[in-house]
Amino acid sequence: MLTKIKKLICENKNIALVGHIMPDGDTIGSCLALGYALESQGKNVELFCQDEIPDNLCFLKGCDKFHNEIISCNYCFDLVIALDCSDPERLGIFYKLLETSNQTINIDHHISNTKFALVNWVDPTAAATCELVYELIKNLNIPINMGIANAIYTGISTDTGNFSYSNTTSKTHIIAAELLETGVQPEEMSMNIYKNNSIERVKLISKAIDTIELHEDGCISTMEITRDMLIEVGVHEKESSGMVNYAKDIKGVELALLFKEQEDGQIKVSMRSKKIVDCNELASLFGGGGHARAAGCTINTTLYNAKKIVLEEAKSFLKG
Ligand code: AMP
Ligand code: MN
Ligand code: MN
Repeated sequence: MLTKIKKLICENKNIALVGHIMPDGDTIGSCLALGYALESQGKNVELFCQDEIPDNLCFLKGCDKFHNEIISCNYCFDLVIALDCSDPERLGIFYKLLETSNQTINIDHHISNTKFALVNWVDPTAAATCELVYELIKNLNIPINMGIANAIYTGISTDTGNFSYSNTTSKTHIIAAELLETGVQPEEMSMNIYKNNSIERVKLISKAIDTIELHEDGCISTMEITRDMLIEVGVHEKESSGMVNYAKDIKGVELALLFKEQEDGQIKVSMRSKKIVDCNELASLFGGGGHARAAGCTINTTLYNAKKIVLEEAKSFLKG
């Protein structure tokens, strides 16, 4: 697989890197790291991500280089690489880039990946797509500079809950150790990513915690974030990442469900489990996907109804 990817990269000059909608640290980190690596080899690289980058990731150098509109790009790309995208819909408007290029690569770690590209490197044992990007950069013999190192560390840290989730492996720590040797400062990174909340985000956390309810004898928790709540505290929806963990980290809770009202009225559901519920399977019942312990889907109905239908399905997953 790596040989095929290396060949495509070596043979092509104009390369587009695409991250997923509602971006997180892993997709942004993967695009930035691979972007820096390929640019250092004389490639023309352009980065694409439909939605705005959350504030806590904007400290990463190069974040301002992402295009969020198709018209801002006049290139004809020889090669398009999707990073951390489980299916073409996750590319949003930049799905068009895939359609217009006949050389496409999909690098991802979601078990629900639909293998939509010409070459698909999908490894669900990787804690983050950034782990795969790191392996690729090393394999290409490209030196790891600070831009690459900080971006990779960010993706690995955010997808593993700062090295605490069950997807964290010895390999995760080996990569992190190598990044620290390159010069990554873990305290500075944690400060930037997790300990630099705006007061508005803290107020939203408070409101979201207030909506927590327990179901099924305390095995399932639900949390809600409505448009009204966002307006009241004056915060953008992209600043609501990670809040589902407050519902998950309750004694006795196996499955946490966050229902978030989108601008278009649809409901985005974030699912997190501790040991039993396969969130990827549960999310796939509603057209979504992800991993066993963390998945998501978007449902076109009211918040009240989304909660009702997801809870109904979730009950049967508790038995494992
Ligand atoms: P989130 O709850 O948005 O933080 O997402 C948790 C995990 O599920 C991440 O790995 C996402 O990439 C994945 N995911 C979220 N929403 C979807 C969706 N609609 N389709 C496929 N995967 C998703
Ligand atoms: Mn992601
Ligand atoms: Mn990821």
